[in-house]
Amino acid sequence: MKTHRFILEPYKGKTTRHNCPSCKKKGCFSRYIDTDKNIEFPDHVGRCNRENNCGYHFTPKQYFEQNPEKAELIRDFSPIHQTVPQQKPMPVSFIDESIVNRSLTRYDQNKLCQFLTSVLGIQKSLKLMNQYKVGTANYWPGATIFWQTDSSDKVRTGKIMLYDPSNGRRIKQPHNHISWVHSMIGGNEFNLKQCFFGEHLLNQKKTLPVAIVESEKSALIASCYLPEFCWIASGGKHGCFRDENLNVLEGRKIVLFPDLGAFDQWSLKSNHMQELGYEVEIFDYLERNASAQQRREGYDIADFLIQIQPEEVNLQMMINKNPMLKKLIDHFDLALEKDTKTVSEDQMYSQKRKGIRL
Ligand SMILES: [Zn+2]
Repeated sequence: MKTHRFILEPYKGKTTRHNCPSCKKKGCFSRYIDTDKNIEFPDHVGRCNRENNCGYHFTPKQYFEQNPEKAELIRDFSPIHQTVPQQKPMPVSFIDESIVNRSLTRYDQNKLCQFLTSVLGIQKSLKLMNQYKVGTANYWPGATIFWQTDSSDKVRTGKIMLYDPSNGRRIKQPHNHISWVHSMIGGNEFNLKQCFFGEHLLNQKKTLPVAIVESEKSALIASCYLPEFCWIASGGKHGCFRDENLNVLEGRKIVLFPDLGAFDQWSLKSNHMQELGYEVEIFDYLERNASAQQRREGYDIADFLIQIQPEEVNLQMMINKNPMLKKLIDHFDLALEKDTKTVSEDQMYSQKRKGIRL
């Protein structure tokens, strides 16, 4: 990468100076641009010229740390990459187990766990944290670490995010609160290869079809409502969909659950996966039935599911309130079962909530 590939946009009149995302003052904010024109930075990547009164400065470096898939993109485009002959592949780096384990605590302070507790109850929330290996970080008070644990139970990295405990939405002001453990402790030698969030559960739930969502939080929530699937998250629209990431899904039935607005992109992914021989389908009910407001807010399957209250144990009542469930049941041939002869706690929970199972 050239040293000055990414620069603050030179002044060319008023249109090149914007409102600061932090202090909100008008016309004082310069955005970063890519002189190679491959990367388009989001609006908050830039610098406020009110150095003393505001001091907001979000650098391309921070942006690439938050979006490793974009960093991979500039590596692919870099001239160095093209001229240096292919070297022996570096071994994948992992995060030390002790660091992971130290984070698996303080859930009372964890803002995401607080939100999940308000929706699902404390026991179920703690079980999810434990099952999916979700930790608590000091980076921002009450932040959540989603550890990416691979199918050999090794941890590739941790994504740190901050949530609003009252609604479970991510905090995106004055900037997107997202950071990565490998970029804090890994140093330059760290060879990051991301995996699906929840990938380690594939081995534990070998017989279940695999459901893929974009957000880690949604994988947690959906796994609680629909334990008939093994829920994993790609960690972003593009996230973990490189061909080499997909090997772990071999021989599984796969259903993609795109967020509203991401359907077209995920259809392409689904087609590509089919070409590679995967048994995959895409859940399009949301895309066809969502309201304008739900679209604006980029709803996903979990947003629909949490509208169902735990006390609504009657399936018909739930279907009336949320017709998507019926659709889900029909589409994936989930058999209705009124009689609850439960064997595991998971199933009991699931049947109590909705009386359905595969
Ligand atoms: Zn400012």
